[in-house]
Amino acid sequence: MRKIWTRIYSMLAGGAEQDADIRVALTETLYASPTSLAIGAFAGFLLSIAVATQAHDPVLTGCAVVISLIAVARTISATIFFRHLQMQRARKHRIWELAYELGAWAYAAMLGIFALMSLLRSDDPMVHILPVALATGYAAGIAGRNAGRVQIAIGQTCLALLPTALGLWIEGHIGYQMLAVVLVAMVIGMAEITRTTHNIVVEALRGKQEKSKLATKFERLARFDSLTGVENRMAMQMRLGELFAANSKSHDALAILWMDLDRFKEINDSLGHMVGDALLRTVVQRLLVTLDGRGHVARFGGDEFVILCPDMDRVTAHQIADEIIASISKGVEVGTNMLAITASIGIAVGPQDGRDADELMQNADMALYDAKAHGRNRAISFTWSMKERMHRIHEIETGLRRAIENDELKLHFQPIFAIESGRIAICEALLRWNHPSLGAIMPSEFIPVAESIHMIEPITDWVLKRACMIAREWPDDVRVAINISPASLKSGSLPQTVIGTLMESGLPARRLELEVTESIFLDDNRYAHQMLRELQQIGLRLVLDDFGTGYSSLSYLRDYRFDGIKIDRSFMNSVATSREDQAIVSAVGLLARELDMEIVAEGIENIEQLEYARKAGVENAQGYLMSAAQSPAVITDMIARNVTIGDAMASQLRDTVAKRA
Ligand code: C2E
Ligand code: MG
Ligand code: MG
Repeated sequence: MRKIWTRIYSMLAGGAEQDADIRVALTETLYASPTSLAIGAFAGFLLSIAVATQAHDPVLTGCAVVISLIAVARTISATIFFRHLQMQRARKHRIWELAYELGAWAYAAMLGIFALMSLLRSDDPMVHILPVALATGYAAGIAGRNAGRVQIAIGQTCLALLPTALGLWIEGHIGYQMLAVVLVAMVIGMAEITRTTHNIVVEALRGKQEKSKLATKFERLARFDSLTGVENRMAMQMRLGELFAANSKSHDALAILWMDLDRFKEINDSLGHMVGDALLRTVVQRLLVTLDGRGHVARFGGDEFVILCPDMDRVTAHQIADEIIASISKGVEVGTNMLAITASIGIAVGPQDGRDADELMQNADMALYDAKAHGRNRAISFTWSMKERMHRIHEIETGLRRAIENDELKLHFQPIFAIESGRIAICEALLRWNHPSLGAIMPSEFIPVAESIHMIEPITDWVLKRACMIAREWPDDVRVAINISPASLKSGSLPQTVIGTLMESGLPARRLELEVTESIFLDDNRYAHQMLRELQQIGLRLVLDDFGTGYSSLSYLRDYRFDGIKIDRSFMNSVATSREDQAIVSAVGLLARELDMEIVAEGIENIEQLEYARKAGVENAQGYLMSAAQSPAVITDMIARNVTIGDAMASQLRDTVAKRA
């Protein structure tokens, strides 16, 4: 039964060949003009009543009543559909389509029957002409009006015109019979018009539908990141704007987590973009699983992701950031590669950390910078003091770019004394910078900034040239030491620069020492190994600075054959009292002797430290007890006067007493 009903339904409704959306749109055209429907209904009502009144025939009166009832029902249904049910879209459309269809057929059939009856039951030409005109006019109008559903239009034309043509034929008058033939021909003509109009309407609807599909596709492309599927920068910024506007009104917290993968570029460069892409996709999966709906993820570009968490306080934001870092640091398997990856996250929570969306983003970015600067693989929350620090860093950055040209950098030298002979053996070049507005800035502050903005190379070159030019004036047995930061080994041009400088200054290579720290090995610097070998081949001395502060791996000592080690001042600090520091200093002393390396004890500030260093077999001492770093003129004078360790200590003592007095 259900099957039969479905068949009838599908036949009546015109088959299911059309796309649902187009079908809905076509059905809507049926109801699109309730006025024309109302006019049709009104014409039927008026003319049928007129005929019934004229003919005084019970059958015609009955027909007129039925026509009027259907006309009223259809007008009401069209109005209701338009006013109330338009919103329900596809779900109700089939019912409305069928309702319209049945109503339309019933009405057309009644007009046809009415015309037939009036022609059969009356001889009055007036009674004939009105229903025939009504049926013909109705059929002509319907061909265009209902072209949205071809079956309905053709069905209606047939139902209205064929009984009318039959009535005209039976009536027998030659003129009537000719009109009957014309009406049959009209059915065929009307069907053709309906079909053509229908096709035009369907084509137009299809075009519109494709346009809207294309628009949806473009909208998706504009909003989402094609690689990972999460929102892109633009969509995230729009979302942030909206969220911030809503949240700042209610003063709820809105957390931004700005995440950056640590050393993603290296993976991308070494393993290729395919691996990089796969890694990014996995990272997004991890983010989504970890967040579990607590925030919206967006790819901000490259390996940066921004996570927006509405209604979230700082503590929870930090907790989530830690969970994310833990989930990413588990490692990611891409094909045959197991990638060790970590992430850094900067957190900013509005409205405390930012008055508007831009400020909040800037501050999250600043917190991320801080997380990177503090060793990566961590989450750091923004603080306003960070802003001041950043401001200073920014001033240092901009200042550094013109410091060399403006002659703001000065090179000072700290003497390193040979404990045994008491004479100056080495002078370590230490940079000093007098910033025009910030005043004196120490190298421990500006060197890391110079490294981060790729300014360390020109600075190292400048130091190298200046130090060699000054040192060539000193006696042959006084060496000069300069500090080399890991970043200046990156480009690989250091050996050429060193050779060029030595040749230019005429300083023998053996009088130049390069101090490097263990971080050059940790920083995954592929040039470091090759560079150190080349530098040693030139014949200059390599010294391991700040020994004991890093990993202090003995394998570096074996692999690189350093010419010297500088024991970090943190060990010398309490060497006079701490048994542990004593043990370490003696052990390093022993090791250095065995490996033919010269030792310098850094940070000697009192006589006990110097004494212990001497006892431990340390050859050289550097520290404020003897002398801080001095200007080139002073150091050159000290060397010329052959100042000994004792003289230097005495002079320092005099200075201290004078200062106290
Ligand atoms: P460093 O190479 O370990 O240099 C020794 C630092 O210890 C110097 O600080 C020096 O002034 C300080 N010092 C010396 N004796 C004592 C002492 O008895 N007690 C204490 N507390 N400190 C003492 P400075 O000049 O501030 O330099 C800091 C660091 O900046 C240096 O550490 C070095 O790593 C870096 N640096 C300095 N100049 C340069 C440079 O031209 N290039 C590079 N790449 N780094 C440099
Ligand atoms: Mg040093
Ligand atoms: Mg040092």
